[in-house]
Parts: sequence; structure tokens; C-alpha cells
Amino acid sequence: MAPNSKPGELKSIKDDHKYSDTYLKLPSEIGTDYTFKRKVVWFNAIGFLFLHLAAVYGYYLCAFRRPHPLTILWMSVLTFGSGIGVTMGAHRLYSHKSFKAKWPLKVALILLQTVAGQNCMYIWVRDHRQHHKYSDTDADPHNANRGFFFSHIGWLMSKKHPAVISKGKTIDMSDLEADPLVMFQQTFYNPLYIIFALALPIAIPVYFWGETYWNSLFISYFGRYMLLLNITWLVNSAAHLYGTRPFDKNLKPVESSLVAFLSIGEGWHNYHHAFPWDYRAAELGSKYSVTTFLINCLAAVGLAYDLKTTPYNMIQYKALRVGDGTHHIFGKIKRKNDVPTKESSEDNAKDDESNKNQSQRLVEANKG
Ligand SMILES: [Zn+2]
Ligand SMILES: [Zn+2]
Repeated sequence: MAPNSKPGELKSIKDDHKYSDTYLKLPSEIGTDYTFKRKVVWFNAIGFLFLHLAAVYGYYLCAFRRPHPLTILWMSVLTFGSGIGVTMGAHRLYSHKSFKAKWPLKVALILLQTVAGQNCMYIWVRDHRQHHKYSDTDADPHNANRGFFFSHIGWLMSKKHPAVISKGKTIDMSDLEADPLVMFQQTFYNPLYIIFALALPIAIPVYFWGETYWNSLFISYFGRYMLLLNITWLVNSAAHLYGTRPFDKNLKPVESSLVAFLSIGEGWHNYHHAFPWDYRAAELGSKYSVTTFLINCLAAVGLAYDLKTTPYNMIQYKALRVGDGTHHIFGKIKRKNDVPTKESSEDNAKDDESNKNQSQRLVEANKG
């Protein structure tokens, strides 16, 4: 009981601290409280509005103001490279430990993740581990049960749910705390961000091919930054809402080819949540994922190793047991077993008839 409280006040105190006990709850018990009112953080909301307007102006410059072609190429290279820092570095290497990397690869991935500007590695990984552990509940930072807007960007412009705060403290981050590269980036994140995400992306086009500072600021910084952010957010929003669930229909995440294409392989999200340790983050490997292809290449030259996958029979077992019947191979078998078809009904009727005849024969034989 809270200090200075009277016995009669117990109920109101409990109501006041409605969410404080989420610390003790299991993910399945937390759920989503749809009556919870979010408080908007206006500084963030206005900041994101400004960033998006600046990015749209950058795309206008690309389309109608004829910047140097190399500036557009530079924007694409930066988007792709920083995307790899997120998908391969923050996601598959650090969040899920789905493979191991030699230190030069770690340095490169941390550097690229800094260019992406999606907060330091430590915070990115903590939020993502929490997202997996409490997926689509109030303790998930971007709970998709609150809709597309909230899971896409709304979570970043509203005050955190108390369950996110209390459960966030329980996420095991000891491996990252023991990684000097990650801790170095966290300590010096602001100066590193200014150098690698802001200054160099803007200065390189000006210095090397004579682009204007104005064009470079809006294309190489705002345009590029917002493009990758929105693609990354689609994995939290669209890939939790619109698609199929061939591996586990009880999970909200879905398989989305469009998000997989845009996010260089992170949209096979039902598979990823069903088997999060798999370095491929998809069932079918590098053919459908640029990130997986690059990890395979890095493994071939020894920079990546101990790549974890999922045994085929485990995928089969899960798809047949709890899939939604849309799996490209096992879906047909599952649908046949789950829903009685005309043929199976006829087969069952034939079986029933033969059982009946056999029973009758046995009864008559016993009589005799
Ligand atoms: Zn993940
Ligand atoms: Zn997810």
C-alpha cells in the first residue's frame, strides 16, 4: 500500500496505479487497453512534421530542379548503406544475435547505423527486443493493435505507455553493455551523428561535384533520412497489419512482399516473429532478401560467421500446426486437413459405410 493511505482508499490507489503491476505480468496477460488515452508530445509531432515537409521539398528538388545526377545517386547510396546498418547491423546482428561478426564488420555496421539516424544502437536494440518480447501489447513500444498511424510514427510523438516504461527496464542488454563499440557509439552519439549523418552527407556532394549546399541539405539529408525512416516504420506498421500469416496465425505480424522489397528483406515478418533467431529473417533466403545475400557474401570472406537458421521440419511443423493455410507448400495440406472438402466428406462417408458393414458382420458372427 502507498504511504499515508487509509484502508478505504485501497481501490482508488489501485486504479491510480492501474499499470504499475504490468511489471509482474506475462506478455499474454498485458494485452491492449483501448481506453488508454495517449498524450501527444507536441515537440516531437511538430519536429516530424517539419522533417517530412523538408523531405518532400527535397524530392521536389530531385524531380523539378535538376540537381547534379551524382547527388541523386549519392542519396540512393546513403539510403541503401544506412539501410544495411539497420537491417544487418541493428536488427539481425545486435537485436537477434542471428550471426556473429568480426570487428571490422561491426565497426562498418555501427557507422552505417549512425548514418541512418534512428537513435543509437543500444536504444534501437532495446526497443526492438521489447517489441518482440511483448509484441502487439501495451508493453510493445509500437503496438500495432493501436492502428497503422500509431505503429508507424505515432508512437514517436506520444508519451510512452506506462507498460512500455516498466517492461523496458526488464530487457536484458548485458551483451551490448559488454560491447565496447556499441558503448562508444552510445557515449559519443551526438557528435557522431553530426559528423556521419549530417555533415559528411551534405559536404561530400558540395566538395566533390560542386552541388549547392541548399540542394545537398534537402536531398542528401532530409530526403534521404525520411525515406529510410518511413521504410523502417513500414515494418512496424504495414508488416503487422496487411498480409498473410502462413507460419503462425496467432501472431499479428504478416508476410508482406512489398515491405520486404522496400526494406531489403525485412517484410517476411510473420516468419521473423515465429523464428526470430534466423539470420535470413525469411524462409527462402537470399533470393528474396538483399540483406541475406550480403550476409552470405560476408560469410564467404569470413567477416560473418555462426549463421543461425531454422530446421526445415520445424518450419513445416509450425506451418501445419498453427499457420493460416497460406504457406506455398504446406498451406494446401493444412487447408485439406482443416476444412472438410467434398472429396474428404465422400471418403469419410465411404469409411463410415465400410465400418458399419464390418460392425454388422462382427455382430452377426458373434451371434452365430
Ligand atoms: Zn526482429
Ligand atoms: Zn515486428
